[in-house]
Amino acid sequence: MTSTVQDPIDLLRTSLEEQFQRSTDQLAELTVRSRQRSHGGYDHDTLAALIASARQAVSDTAHALRRMAEGSCERCTADISLQRLEILPHARFCVPCQRRQTG
Ligand SMILES: [Zn+2]
Repeated sequence: MTSTVQDPIDLLRTSLEEQFQRSTDQLAELTVRSRQRSHGGYDHDTLAALIASARQAVSDTAHALRRMAEGSCERCTADISLQRLEILPHARFCVPCQRRQTG
């Protein structure tokens, strides 16, 4: 028997996992294109920029998933609230630490 009510954190994790999969696929596809002589129709700089951004997305999403598993601020190890993760899945710090970081 399956539960009909999903934990919001599970929903968020599922969406991040999908995003991770998409970014990984995109990165793989772009890498294949970069090896083609025509670069899949992209000019070299555009393709390099797309690869860099896909790589960043893979890395951000992987970090977000890991952080969600840990659920804590990288600086003070306080829990990062679910509300914050929903708005900013890549949040590395809790709100007070983020303020200190940027302020
Ligand atoms: Zn903190």
